[in-house]
Amino acid sequence: MAVNLKFDSPMSRIAGVGEKRRRLFEKLGVTQVGELLYHFPRGYQNRGNIRLIADAPMDEPCAFLLTVSSAPKTVMLKNRMTLTKFTAFDESRRCTIVFFNQRYVEDVFTIGSEFRFWGKMSFKAGKYEMSAPIFEPYSESRPLPDFTPLYPLTEGLTQKIVASAVADAMSRLENIPEILPERIRRNNSIVSRGEAFRLLHSPNNYSDLERGREYFVYEELYIFALSVALMSRDMRSGTGPQMYKEAIRFEEFTSVLPYTLTGAQSRAIDEIFSDMTREDRKPMARLLSGDVGSGKTICAAAAAYAAIRNGMQAALMAPTEILANQHYQDLEALFANFRMTVALLTGSTKAADRRKILLGLAEGSIDLVVGTHSLLSQNVEFESLGLVITDEQHRFGVMQRATLAEKAQDVHTLVMSATPIPRTLALIMYGDLNMSVIDELPPGRQKIGTFAVDESYRDRLNGFIRKQVEEGHQVYVVCPAIESSQSDEDEGEVLSFDRIGDKIKEKQPPLKSASEYSQRLRELFPDINIGFMHGKLKGAEKDKVMNDFVCNRVQILVSTTVIEVGVNVPNATLMIVENAERFGLSQLHQLRGRVGRGSSKSWCILVSDSTEEAAKSRLEAMHETNNGYKIAEKDLALRGPGDFFASKNGEVRQHGAFKFRLAQLCEDMDMLKSAFAEAAITIREDPGLERPENKEAADRVFRMASTDANTLN
Ligand code: ADP
Ligand code: MG
Repeated sequence: MAVNLKFDSPMSRIAGVGEKRRRLFEKLGVTQVGELLYHFPRGYQNRGNIRLIADAPMDEPCAFLLTVSSAPKTVMLKNRMTLTKFTAFDESRRCTIVFFNQRYVEDVFTIGSEFRFWGKMSFKAGKYEMSAPIFEPYSESRPLPDFTPLYPLTEGLTQKIVASAVADAMSRLENIPEILPERIRRNNSIVSRGEAFRLLHSPNNYSDLERGREYFVYEELYIFALSVALMSRDMRSGTGPQMYKEAIRFEEFTSVLPYTLTGAQSRAIDEIFSDMTREDRKPMARLLSGDVGSGKTICAAAAAYAAIRNGMQAALMAPTEILANQHYQDLEALFANFRMTVALLTGSTKAADRRKILLGLAEGSIDLVVGTHSLLSQNVEFESLGLVITDEQHRFGVMQRATLAEKAQDVHTLVMSATPIPRTLALIMYGDLNMSVIDELPPGRQKIGTFAVDESYRDRLNGFIRKQVEEGHQVYVVCPAIESSQSDEDEGEVLSFDRIGDKIKEKQPPLKSASEYSQRLRELFPDINIGFMHGKLKGAEKDKVMNDFVCNRVQILVSTTVIEVGVNVPNATLMIVENAERFGLSQLHQLRGRVGRGSSKSWCILVSDSTEEAAKSRLEAMHETNNGYKIAEKDLALRGPGDFFASKNGEVRQHGAFKFRLAQLCEDMDMLKSAFAEAAITIREDPGLERPENKEAADRVFRMASTDANTLN
């Protein structure tokens, strides 16, 4: 018996994983045994649905239970190929089975033995035949599972390799640490973590899948809820610096603006000022939510201005260097009007400048510092920091991780988010925080022309791309996946993982891969510069591609959804989203918001080959409205709350982590409420998450905080 494994054992400890395979697994983001277990199947084949040869649909893979009726014979073909052939039967018919270059099967298929085959049956010259099917020995005493997992793969790995690695891990793991405390599992009748892994990796039936999925949905919600609860507790704790309304002199601020604030902006700013000038000195803990382009930055600037007028310093943190840069440019110009000093501090600030800035912050000669999220975690000292603003830009969920790391205490905090979020959800998730919503766009914004099309429009679409580029504009193309996760075998009908809840078993259109797509565009438009960006690029590489696009050295940017966290490129007028059926409406809206930022008419084309009515009508909704809050409400109603949570890098997860997308709204909302309620209890009972039963969850929460802070830089 091989030695036991732990969750953090390296992949090289798994049977059959040598250096070569270790590297392939690494490509999938799997370096440890625990990560292998989180490498969930993206779907399942139902091989339990056994067909008779006579009734089998032609040329569509399905399962057969056959008995071998003739000894395999091998003949030599040209080019040193071999062909091995034998017959097998079920109660309806007999068929021929052939294998190429797999002579060893001669010894496998003995007369009388039974196998479950998976493959396409064809009918040629009066004979049934199957070529190179997948086969599993069958015996009545040891039934085969109905569902066969299909794992996301990378070139060089096969389903078999991944499945046997998972099997080895499962059989040798000595204990799987629990994340959900006993209390929660009992209250919600949820299985243990170890059981949940078993249910998803080797389910026996449909209900196994549902129970397994339920566990991981709850786990993810709970970790999220814990992070949010800790964040809002940190934001609300301590005392806020004393500030006075009279000191602000806001008219001076508004008098230099080239426009009038919208009603929603004025309201938000009023709320912010009230928070900052409370007599009881409770610190501000406010979320500023507003659609892309609604003008959140100026509200943040007003808050910083108010703090500075009160003799304090302010810090503004952005998720990327590029965004930090952009904020810096804007704010430096604005604050020059009031002789307030603004500095930019990021990873690429030169050592000499850095020293100067750190000194300026410590002395108080710098009033506002703009930087990336790591700004506050790096022991930067302030003379009198009074306000911390975080610009999330991205999904709401990401926020707490960065904020947590900062341990923002005894300062006012303002978090900006560009994810319009339905009120009902906001109350469950952020009920402890105050919220200002900017639900009104500045006047005169153009509507982005939005259309849903299918593959038959491809040529016209390509023509449209060329036209936009020839007019001097730039184009975004977004694909859900980096590489296609094409399997090594013909998959047939797949019960896809994110569909487990809604029991729809229709085949989804195949995933388009950004890497192949950018290649194709390069061939199609050899004269146009095309960039390719995805979440696995290192920070600096990502910044380079993005910068090339910002500076118009690249005219077409093909990417995964990482550009959601992107920047302002007013010259970009066309957004194309491939496999649009895979995205939530809110996410599509977010992507659409990347264009329409300049004065030219902009377009968003949603490409989808989905034939499902639900998918089609969802995409139609995008055509009908540009209002993010309306879209968010609709999204919540149609797809449940899953889409409103952060996903690690915005990409459809091909590896590791679980993306929950749940169809039954009520059920999900219940789970969401329960996870938040349980997280609140956990934190009340164990504020530091120090008890043994909370250890694993604490690790997850804090690891999330630190890895995210790093990836963002
Ligand atoms: P977001 O909410 O996405 O961060 P920004 O703050 O970047 O939006 O604002 C988008 C654009 O709208 C900026 O160019 C800004 O100058 C402009 N803007 C902001 N408020 C107004 C307003 N009240 N009237 C006109 N333009 C405005
Ligand atoms: Mg912004």
